[in-house]
Amino acid sequence: MKRAIMACLLIAGMTALATRAADISENKRQPEQTKLDGYKNTPMHPDGKFHIHDPDRPQPPVVEPKYDGKPVPAPKDAIVIFDGKETDELVNKTWAIKDGVMTVGKASQKTKRAFGDMHLHVEFLIPLKCVKGWGQKQGNSGIFLMDTYEVQVLNCWGNRTYADGMSGALYGQVPPKANACKKPDEWQCYDIHFKAPVFKDNKVVSPAIVTVYLNNVLVQDKSAFAGASTWRKVAQYRPHPAEKPFSLQAHGNPVQYRNIWVAPLKEKLD
Ligand code: MG
Repeated sequence: MKRAIMACLLIAGMTALATRAADISENKRQPEQTKLDGYKNTPMHPDGKFHIHDPDRPQPPVVEPKYDGKPVPAPKDAIVIFDGKETDELVNKTWAIKDGVMTVGKASQKTKRAFGDMHLHVEFLIPLKCVKGWGQKQGNSGIFLMDTYEVQVLNCWGNRTYADGMSGALYGQVPPKANACKKPDEWQCYDIHFKAPVFKDNKVVSPAIVTVYLNNVLVQDKSAFAGASTWRKVAQYRPHPAEKPFSLQAHGNPVQYRNIWVAPLKEKLD
């Protein structure tokens, strides 16, 4: 009996995945989604308009991504963090590296070096096998600047979640200006121009600021983090060193990464 139930569940799961695969290949972005992802029992954002992770916060417009999926060469003055090979730049050796691609493992990945202001380039791919369940369950990872401030990684192609939790969002804080996500199984890229926060007498005197391009589309324009990224809470700053490693989030989904480099920040962000 137990085996029969397990077999039925497995077949149902495989059928659902096959259906989504067909939807995606036919460019069906918004299949019927009965359960909206989000919360109404969370605190309000400091602007008083929406709850944290509010499902009613307006979704940004869907726009055409402008990235062709090819690896973007690192500039001459960049520090290469991952170029497809084993590297001492990354601390967590449990993330599998195969065919030049690194897959999210059990714990988050972190750089050995510490960074402050920077231009961070990251390429990622959300495998089709991550496309099960809805909302935050589809290919969740993230880029934690200074191991503290998250730019979300999530499949938002044909998958609706709360606006402050989409790819391109400053997680739990600022929704992206546009939904520029590519399909699952396609390479996508982030260019994150980051200005580190400044603390004085244990108080923040200048916030962390980012301009973010997702697939070469501007999704954050000099947006300020309200504090350390958190779930279901209002963000707050906690003092930390001027330079810290950045990390890639392990959220239980086998998201893939390749071609990660850090170049000097050349843009003025305040
Ligand atoms: Mg995440």
